[in-house]
Amino acid sequence: MSILSAPKNLTRNVLIGMGLGVLIAAIFHYQQAAIPTMLFDFVEKYVFNLGGQIFKNLLMLVVVPLVFFSLVSGISSLSNMVKLGSIATKTVGLYLFTTGLAVSTALIFGWVFNLSGYEGEVASFAPVAGEASLYDTVLRIFPNNMFGAFVENNMLGIVFISILFGIALNLTDELTDGLSKSFERFNTVFLKIVLLIMSFAPVGVFCLMGSYVMAKGLNIFGDLAQYVILLIFVLLFHLTVTYSLLLKLFANLNPLIFFRKMRNVALFAFSTSSSAATIPVTLKTVTDDLGVKKDVSSFVVPVGATINMDGTAIMQGLATMFIASTVGVDLTFAQYAQIVFLAIITSIGTAAVPSAGTVTLALILGSVGLPLDAIGLILAVDRILDMVRTSVNVCGDAAVSCIVAKSENELDEQTFNNRLG
Ligand code: ASP
Repeated sequence: MSILSAPKNLTRNVLIGMGLGVLIAAIFHYQQAAIPTMLFDFVEKYVFNLGGQIFKNLLMLVVVPLVFFSLVSGISSLSNMVKLGSIATKTVGLYLFTTGLAVSTALIFGWVFNLSGYEGEVASFAPVAGEASLYDTVLRIFPNNMFGAFVENNMLGIVFISILFGIALNLTDELTDGLSKSFERFNTVFLKIVLLIMSFAPVGVFCLMGSYVMAKGLNIFGDLAQYVILLIFVLLFHLTVTYSLLLKLFANLNPLIFFRKMRNVALFAFSTSSSAATIPVTLKTVTDDLGVKKDVSSFVVPVGATINMDGTAIMQGLATMFIASTVGVDLTFAQYAQIVFLAIITSIGTAAVPSAGTVTLALILGSVGLPLDAIGLILAVDRILDMVRTSVNVCGDAAVSCIVAKSENELDEQTFNNRLG
């Protein structure tokens, strides 16, 4: 086993951690009356919540330096800058395309299965302010304070700064006496930090799953079974059918190999509900297991985690239909087109953290004239849906990475086709 390979039996151990977390928390949740309050509170707060939050913090902790060093070292080793332009154009184009496809699929399935609304009373919801408009999102790409961007975790700004820095380093490599090599080395150190953190994943995931189940129990459907089941179905459809077709048609790659290698990434996304916190694992898998060269993956993965949210767009499409039906509004064709357009745009502005998609949903509802209060309904069942859609979001980032890499001749197909070590 090399110094930079993933912990042994990671998938198996993470699954065991997940199962145990669900089991123990379910016992606590359903037997609450028989358990001393002090013990219950202690386990909830200091075992599950604290452990889960520490694990998410550890992952987030490495995101910024990892993205910076891998992007800088990737770009500084590019042979020409035209290539960077071409990678960036394909990446953004494909991300917008797959998100458009995702929300359209959701609307078609919603229509085919005649998604009906909720008949009980609607809880009220106070929309969370401060979600970025398109104007703010574009402006965030160009921060006026380099360190501010890093401190605020402004991913788009960090990507921009890293590109700028990488280009300058690339152009001055002779003058700076091979400084770019140092960035390579830092990158290796941060990769090792990721691996060290990953070895705690089974415990981290145990705590995260436990904290979800402890709070809400196992009833993931609430009163909205049709919405929840249809949404999970469309998410899985997009994950398995759409991405398989895209990988096959655009890059002639075997989707089964892709999915087998993505299982850890999907599990991390599922248990953290955050594409941003999953970046370290996505980056490692896409580069080391799927064979995408670093100069492509270091750009496509962090940009994808920030702007590409196919799973979120699917939720927003179906949720809008569901809410329209709940309040008895018949959406027109023009409004459907508007939903597709807005879901593409808002996915760029949606933060890659838990439940962010339900916040930007307010923007879509507002634009097509639907009441924001109805989001309260969706929130009641959002926990599990957030977990599933985040897994779809990150798999989309990885699929696009493979497609872009293949088209740029930057995919090591031997590594892609290799059995997992
Ligand atoms: N949790 C999602 C993500 O991080 C965003 C969302 O849909 O709420 O990708």
